[in-house]
Amino acid sequence: MSAIDQIREELLRASYLKSAEAVLQWDQETYMPPGAGAARADQIAFLSGLIHERMTSERLKEALYELIDLQTGELRTITLNERETRLAKEAWKDYRKEAALPAKFVAELSHHASTSQQAWTQARKESNFVTFQPHLEKMVELQKEKAGYLSLGGSTYDTLMDLFEPGMTTEQAASLFKALRQRLVPLIREIQEVKHRVNNSVLSKNYDLDKQWSFGEGILRAIGFDFNHGRQDRSAHPFTTGFHPTDVRTTTRLRENDLKSALLATLHEGGHALYNMGLPAEEFGNPLGEYISLGIHESQSRLWENLVGLSTPFWQYAYPKLRATFPEQLKDTDKDQFYAAMNKVRPSMIRVEADEATYNLHVMLRFEIEQLLINDDLPVAELPALWNDKMEEYIGIRPTNDSEGVLQDVHWSFGAFGYFPTYTLGNLYSVQFYNQARKDIPGLEDQYAHGKFAPLLDWLREKIHSKGRSVTASELIMDVTGEELSAEPFLNYLEEKYRGIYSLG
Ligand code: ZN
Repeated sequence: MSAIDQIREELLRASYLKSAEAVLQWDQETYMPPGAGAARADQIAFLSGLIHERMTSERLKEALYELIDLQTGELRTITLNERETRLAKEAWKDYRKEAALPAKFVAELSHHASTSQQAWTQARKESNFVTFQPHLEKMVELQKEKAGYLSLGGSTYDTLMDLFEPGMTTEQAASLFKALRQRLVPLIREIQEVKHRVNNSVLSKNYDLDKQWSFGEGILRAIGFDFNHGRQDRSAHPFTTGFHPTDVRTTTRLRENDLKSALLATLHEGGHALYNMGLPAEEFGNPLGEYISLGIHESQSRLWENLVGLSTPFWQYAYPKLRATFPEQLKDTDKDQFYAAMNKVRPSMIRVEADEATYNLHVMLRFEIEQLLINDDLPVAELPALWNDKMEEYIGIRPTNDSEGVLQDVHWSFGAFGYFPTYTLGNLYSVQFYNQARKDIPGLEDQYAHGKFAPLLDWLREKIHSKGRSVTASELIMDVTGEELSAEPFLNYLEEKYRGIYSLG
């Protein structure tokens, strides 16, 4: 067997274990009885260990060594074609990250992540940061230690961010956030002065949960979610996972007095799911069959949620159906009023409920704070106060307790530092991709205003999904749009949209 086939085989076996682990995790969030938590944690920890063994096996190492200098990543052979070269290099990058972490450290980190997440859950319930503080302090130390083992070049924060968004640097992300801040802060202020122009009270009437559920399923079906290769379930926090391109799972949440929440969560997770379903199945189990980065993944969810789901042509298609589902609640609201209500800008404490304008400022605050923590420029004890100050400065409101402030996100509790920026990167990518799709597909919006979403999905499949990880994020955006990632297209899109909705001058 050739070295490249041996790499494929070893990684495929590891992927079977990863799929099994993902099934257990999916089940834990959807159907597992509450009393099974401890046993499930043991099962998942054991599988994680097996996966780590597989990802660092001697067989894999030997095969990689035949092709690549394990220290530098330089190719040692000229026998590989372009795709094989990419596969070998990506496999080496993954291997290096896995192998750099001592098994003892991986176990300690995974154990602390679970303890710390439980402490966060409790602290959030009691709205008391102090009880979570020592766990977070230890987690920050462990993350620094982790970056030290990985030493990918660049700063500690660069290394951590690279785990989620390969190739992105702190400097590049900071300059994107700066550009966003310069135009978003005044835009939000301008909107706040005329906020009465949009009334969104229709969204908080009473909406039957079963009807919300079937409406959402209809939307998923319409945009191309294949129920033969996926399913949707309910969970407290919506998420998407996949075990193979032919088996993709999403979840959504339903609330009786909140029509927007379920609709947008369904479209968001639907976008993630379409990406997973569109990954090249023939490459399953090796890097070429995987998604590029979290930012690119998020671009797919945001494209369907915001660019499509919060657009006029989408509601031209969907509103008559929604009105037929809830005739009583929607009888006094026309399509344009509904579209405006869905798009109302309202500074709020909670990131996941933020509108398109304020969302990235929530992310920016986290991006700034986590750098301070990782660089030892902020004692964890001072985190809540700084959080509240920044909320006031960027979003104009001040949290009154830790629950609606610093304790709202789970990420830091399990050690995801460098993750938050990918949310904003996803927003920026999504607009650039969508603008290009509009250029490439004649009458794109006219088509989906009439329920035809296939041209858009086919375009995404061809240009993005089917690429797997055969290109990097920066290569992808350049290949697809001919331009680098930038904040301008996103800002132009938002300003134009809100000028219309709020009749701004
Ligand atoms: Zn997402």
